[in-house]
Order: sequence, then structure tokens, then C-alpha cells
Amino acid sequence: MEKIIYLDYAATTPVPPAVAEAMAKTLTEDFGNPSAQYPLGREARDRVEAARNVVASALGARAEQLYFTSCGTESDNWALRAALWQNRRVGKHIVTTAVEHSAIIECCKALEREGYTVTYVKPGRDGRVAAEKILEAVREDTAVVSIMLVNNESGARMPVEAVAAGLRGRPALLHTDAVQGFLKVPFTVKTLGADFVSLSAHKIGGPKGIGALYIGGRAKNARPLLYGGGQESGLRPGTEPTAQIAGFAKAVELRWEHLEEHWAHMASIRAYAVEQLTKIPDLAVIGAGDAPHILSVSLPGYPSQNIVTDLGEQGICISAGSACHKGKASHVLVAMGLDKRTAAGTVRLSFGPETTREDIDAAAAALLNHRMKRFPML
Ligand code: PLP
Repeated sequence: MEKIIYLDYAATTPVPPAVAEAMAKTLTEDFGNPSAQYPLGREARDRVEAARNVVASALGARAEQLYFTSCGTESDNWALRAALWQNRRVGKHIVTTAVEHSAIIECCKALEREGYTVTYVKPGRDGRVAAEKILEAVREDTAVVSIMLVNNESGARMPVEAVAAGLRGRPALLHTDAVQGFLKVPFTVKTLGADFVSLSAHKIGGPKGIGALYIGGRAKNARPLLYGGGQESGLRPGTEPTAQIAGFAKAVELRWEHLEEHWAHMASIRAYAVEQLTKIPDLAVIGAGDAPHILSVSLPGYPSQNIVTDLGEQGICISAGSACHKGKASHVLVAMGLDKRTAAGTVRLSFGPETTREDIDAAAAALLNHRMKRFPML
């Protein structure tokens, strides 16, 4: 098989063998239901609690503040609805940004249909959203503010800490979608000051289908999204996916062990990629690029879908503006105020601990070739 050059780590990541092994053992040997009363069940319960400890520690949180969910999307939806429930007497206004992941944007649109009002704060051209602009949008009746930690397209780091400080003494609760920031940029729940923090395992070398929500700070008596058994303290019922949970914890352990080394590696890969790609005529770097693992670039006039398909046929995996919005201009790039040609020509390369300079060389050569062999279409 042709070698795959994988440069789409912001979409999902490969699971290292140690993670797959931990999961396989949980599926075939340690497969008990954590609610069962015999040793096989009790051991499974202990393993879930040990895993909770590992993930919570990496956040600087206490284990009892962390709830396992099925994905980052569920964590985002749950956080918004739990915050709105807690602050139901405060009002029905939500503040978020125009560049959130669709897990927040689409949930907000659904909430608008249910009678809530939402202010979507716009970013600057670099994709960053100023804390002052977010705080200016907060009203007396604002129940929740939701801002992501790192944007999945621009790589911009959002000012969660400054927003938390500005909200002190006000009733609005603060949620941050830290799916692209967890173990990529330094933070703890304490330094962030958010009341809810969403995570997802498959962006950090864990399996798909498992996420977590931190509920702490001023958040209390969170309302569940689902109703059923008493798992996760009754707040997130459903038999615990023990293999996914074991994989999540193992992935966190592996990343944690090499955290600074991985950050330095990704930052150096990103810098190298910028150096190589900007040799391509007319290529522009898009966004602030605060996160070390994300680099968006545009070839204005060259449709991103064609670039992704062309490189894909050569075994190089990158993504168009946003992997979730087939054919449609990404809402993030539009909100950043990019002109149509630049937005439509934007592709994202994203990196992980396994990415090499040779991977970047191959992508740069293929992009240059694409630029040279075709006429601009837009
Ligand atoms: N939030 C952000 C910023 C993301 O990048 C993603 C995934 O792309 C999600 C949320 C959704 O996470 P999951 O795929 O676990 O539902």
C-alpha cells in the first residue's frame, strides 16, 4: 500500500499501540460492567475511577469534577444546557463567538428556535476574539458565555482567562470547548477559570467515541442531558464504555509523559511548514496560529476541495477549511472577514507527535505542483 502522509491531526489522530492494547484488554479480559457487584465488576469500576483520576489530573481538576461523555459534541451540548438550567432565573441570553465548532453553533441555533437569544461575537482577521468584545456583549440576562480555547481552523487561542476575570461578580457561567486545546496549549481549570470545560479523546491519540466534561467553579447541580441509570453520579447515565475510557486515560498518560517534547516538536514542525509552504507563489498563511498543531494556508483562486482531492490521491491527508462543511465556505473563515477567493482556497494542515519534516516536504511539493499545473478557477 502507498504510504499515507497524515497531516490532519486536528480532525482525528492515530491511536498508539499502547492505547489499543489497553483497550483490547478491557474488551476481552477486564470486560465487567462497572455496576456489577462481583470482583470482575468492581475491578472495572476501579479502572474507570483510575482513568477519571488520570484525565482530571491532566486538567488540574478533582476526579469528582470530571464526567465521561460520548464525545466533545455531547460535552458541548450538555454544558450549554446545564448552564442555562442553572441560570434559568437569570435570563435566556447566550454569548458565544462566530467561530465556534458546529457542536456549539448548531446547539445555539437549536436554542434560538426554543426561545433563547444568542450573540455571536466576531473575530478579527487573525481569528482571535478580543476579551473586551465578548464582555461587552454580556448583559444582565446573560446566562452563559461559551468560548472555545483553541479554534480548529485558525489555531487562534481565545482569551478564556480574561473573560473569566471579567465575569467575576456577574451571574453568567463560563464554558470553554477545550477539544483543540487540551494537551496542546498549557492550561489548568484553575488558570482558565471556566465553570465547564469540554474535552475529546480522539484529538490526543485516544479513541473516537469518548469525551469528558469538567463541571466545577460556580457550576452546581448540573442537569443531565440523558436520563437513565445512576452512572457518572447519575448525571450521565449509560453503561460506562470501559474500553474507550481506558484508551482515553492511556492516551493522556502517554501525551503527558512527553508533553513539553511534543509541544516543541509540533512548534518546530509548524515553523518548518510555514517556511516551506510560503515559498509557493501567492500562498498566504491564515490565522493567528497560536496553537502548535494547526496551520491553515490559502492559495487564492484554487478551490480547497480540488487541492484536498488532488493531494488525497497522492496519499496526503489534509482538510479543506472545515472538514464538516462540504462544499460550503467555512463559517470560521467567513467570520474572519477573508475575501471569497482566499476563503475558498484555504486548506488546513495539522500535526501530531508523529509528524516529520519529510511529511511537510511531501505536502509542500504536492501543493506547489497543484499551484503550477492548474489555472486558478475562482
Ligand atoms: N470542538 C472542537 C473545537 C472540535 O475541533 C471538535 C472536533 O472536530 C469538536 C468540538 C467535536 O468533538 P467530537 O468529534 O469528539 O464530537
